[in-house]
This record gives sequence, C-alpha cells and structure tokens, in this order.
Amino acid sequence: MKHLILGNGPAGVVAAETLRKAAPHDEIVMVGHEDAPPYSRMAIPYLLEGNIDESGTYLRKGADHFERLRVRQMRGRAVALNTEKCTVLFDDGHFESYDRLLIATGSHPVRPPIPGVDLPEVQTCWTLADARAIAAHARPGARVLQLGAGFIGCIIMEALAKRGVQLTVVEMGDRMVPRMMTPKAGGMIKRWVEEKGIRVVTSAGVQRIDRGSEVGADAPLAVTLSTGDRLDCDLVIVAAGVAPNVGFLEETPVHVAKGVLVDDRMETSVSGIFAAGDVAEAPDLFTGAHLVAAIQPNAADQARIAAMNMARGAIARDTKLNGVLAINVLDTLGLISSSFGQWWGEKPDAGGSGVELVDEARYRYLSLQFKDDVLIGATSIGLTQHVGALRGLIHGQVRLGDWKDRLLANPLSFVDAYVARSQQPMALAR
Ligand SMILES: Cc1cc2nc3c(=O)[nH]c(=O)nc-3n(C[C@H](O)[C@H](O)[C@H](O)COP(=O)(O)OP(=O)(O)OC[C@H]3O[C@@H](n4cnc5c(N)ncnc54)[C@H](O)[C@@H]3O)c2cc1C
Repeated sequence: MKHLILGNGPAGVVAAETLRKAAPHDEIVMVGHEDAPPYSRMAIPYLLEGNIDESGTYLRKGADHFERLRVRQMRGRAVALNTEKCTVLFDDGHFESYDRLLIATGSHPVRPPIPGVDLPEVQTCWTLADARAIAAHARPGARVLQLGAGFIGCIIMEALAKRGVQLTVVEMGDRMVPRMMTPKAGGMIKRWVEEKGIRVVTSAGVQRIDRGSEVGADAPLAVTLSTGDRLDCDLVIVAAGVAPNVGFLEETPVHVAKGVLVDDRMETSVSGIFAAGDVAEAPDLFTGAHLVAAIQPNAADQARIAAMNMARGAIARDTKLNGVLAINVLDTLGLISSSFGQWWGEKPDAGGSGVELVDEARYRYLSLQFKDDVLIGATSIGLTQHVGALRGLIHGQVRLGDWKDRLLANPLSFVDAYVARSQQPMALAR
C-alpha cells in the first residue's frame, strides 16, 4: 500500500508518523513545496522576536527523523489530481501514484484586491520566506501598518511591537478579532493594545497603497485609508484572512466548499482520499455543519484520525472524529483571551440564553452561552487558569440541570459546575 501525503506542515507530519506506526510495511511519501524542512507556522512570531532561529521552528529536530521512519520526502507543488488513475501531477511535470491520498495542503493568506497590494514592501506573514522579508523591513522605528486584527494579526502584533516598530493596525470590523470575540471582549482587547502604544483604527479599510516617491511621501509607501487618512509606511503587513489550498482539486470529484469536505473519518467524497488540517472542513460538534478550524492542535488531531483510517486493513477498524469544536486561545501583548464553540450564542426562541461578566478595570471578562441547560459557547479575557473546564463542559455537551441557574447568577463558578456535573454517571451527564 502506498500513501501519498500532500503537505508537510503539522497535519502532514503527524499523519506520516501515525501511518508508520499503524502500517509498518507500507510505503509513505510526504510532499511539501517550501524551501525548508517541515516547520510550524505558529513559531514564526518567536522567530520574528528573535527568541529562536529558523531551526527552532522545525517540527522535528533530528535531521534523519523521517529517513529513520522510512518516510520519503519530496519537494513539489501538486497541480492536478486524477482520481481514476490515482495519480497526482506536480509542478515539475512528474506524476506520483497512490493507493491512499491525504490532502494536508493547509491554506494561504488572501491579499485583498487593493491597488498597490503587490508592491514588494507589502508582505503577508505566513511562511518562513515571509518572516525573512518582514525581518528585513521591520527595524526599530520603522513605520508599519498591519491590515487586519484577526487571530493571526493579534498573534504577530506582539512580535512586531517587540521589534520596536511604530505600529498602526487597521481593521474592517468594529472591534478587534471580530470573528472570535464578542463586541465587549473585542473592545477590551482594543483598549489594551492602545494602552501599549499601538494605534488601532477599527471600522476602516485600506483603500490604496502608493509608492511614496510617486505621491511625495516621506517613506517607501503611502497608504490611504477609507477614513481619508494617508499614512507614510516602511512596511505593510496583510493579515486579512486565509483560503484553503484546493486549486489542484478543480474538475475532480472531490467535493470542495471553502475547504475539502470530509466525513467524521476525515475521508472526502472520493473513497481512499482523505483530508486534514487547515484545508479540511469537518462536521461541527454541535450542528454537524462543515467547519474549517484552523489551529495547529486541530490539524494534528484530524491528521491522526485520517492516518488511522488510511491504514485501515492494518488496524481493521474505523477511527472517528467526535465533531470539531472551535477553540481559539490568544495572547495579545500579554492579554489572554479565549473563545470556545458557539460563543455568539443561540437565539432565545431556539432555547438560547446567556450571561456576561465584565470587569473593565481589571481586564477580566466572561461570557457564557447556553442552549437549554447545555453550555454551547464561551468567551473569556484574563482567565488564565481553569479555562479547560469551560472547554470540558462545552465539548462534553454536559447537561447542567440546576447548575445552569447557578452559572447565570455566578458565571465564575464554572469550575465547580464542571467538577459537579462531569462526575455524574454518563447517562445523567449527557
Ligand atoms: C504567524 C502564525 C501564527 C500562528 N499561531 C498559531 C497558534 O498560536 N496556535 C495555533 O494553534 N495555530 C496557530 N497558527 C495556525 C497554524 O499554523 C495552522 O493551523 C497549522 O499550520 C495548520 O497545519 P496544516 O498542516 O494543516 O497546514 P500548514 O502548516 O499550512 O501546512 C501545509 C503544507 O502544505 C504545503 N502545500 C500547500 N499546497 C501544496 C501543494 N499544492 N502541493 C504540495 N504541498 C503543498 C505547504 O507548503 C505546507 O508545507 C498560526 C499561523 C501563523 C501563520
């Protein structure tokens, strides 16, 4: 049996290792197209801060790790798939055959269609190559504009601040991290960031980016905002969202929505082809609707499940994903925030209710969202301990019974609720 893995990020690597354990005699080929050994994008901020060098981002430290596992590594970009012949065409013109295929190609940052967005001083922050380019321009005192204050934008902000740049963040939404945080929480994060000396402009976009020399600006770039402001910049960083790498699946029977649609075994619409990680859309824990949950732990979990099922025959049983739970934990310049599950809540006529606890002065915040007596989502700021209990209540879909009213009265008692209810026999707890 030959397993072909497209992508050598966390999902590809975990799949290769899991396959080797589950199917010791199978052939495994893992492909990536970047000029580096398999690495973790989440280490890029530490690289920009100077805490680690590039080798610190590598997912596996031993130079011969994959050789010892008999995982053949290959460099190339998949450009087409033939599901009838079971072959993948790569950009150098060669074909690779497979018996089982894993699509673990992740996603790429999107550049919004803004005039000037392709100028060389306009960078995304996604790859090691991007990090090298940012490091070259983001010198102390450099005027940097960051477009987007979402998950990735907030993560890289700290690294930029530590490099001593003058940072302006421009966000289309009315608050920071609008797709992960309630209005109150997003507003608190904005205030925190501004107190650290970063200028944040919300409800605004970048209209155009010009060469400074062409418009008489005192910098390589002149950025015009939708507010009419014009800013001189040495560097613009685009952190305005990502899109899954699915181009090579066009005109194939592999069903793609935003990402590659998979079932709870991580198998696509084509038997023998699996997908995992940022490129995959798997069923949500609560609704069953397909969802991309683009965080590294999720990529690893999905890859493990995909690999176990690819090796089926060797282990002779299905391994299933118990639904995706959206989890985001964010460190924005030292302020820890998190959101879990359906943090925005449910409509009252569908059994939804919620409670919000706000302590603006101490930067503490908690929102709990219920459907009937089950906690379906939560948002927190400044809670650095025990948030695992929130995750446990949501992930376990624990029936809270009379604990729901106690939580509405005192949201911070969620740890007690978790201890009390998760110790119930399953029949009661579910
Ligand atoms: C700056 C930054 C900070 C982050 N911080 C965090 C964090 O703190 N916590 C967290 O959980 N997550 C974080 N993430 C997100 C996390 O990195 C991703 O969720 C994770 O990398 C997903 O793993 P993956 O293997 O699915 O995809 P990727 O890591 O993107 O790997 C995909 C691989 O596929 C290769 N590839 C793409 N297309 C093709 C093709 N056509 N043919 C062959 N190979 C291809 C790519 O080169 C790449 O090596 C961060 C991301 C960034 C950019």
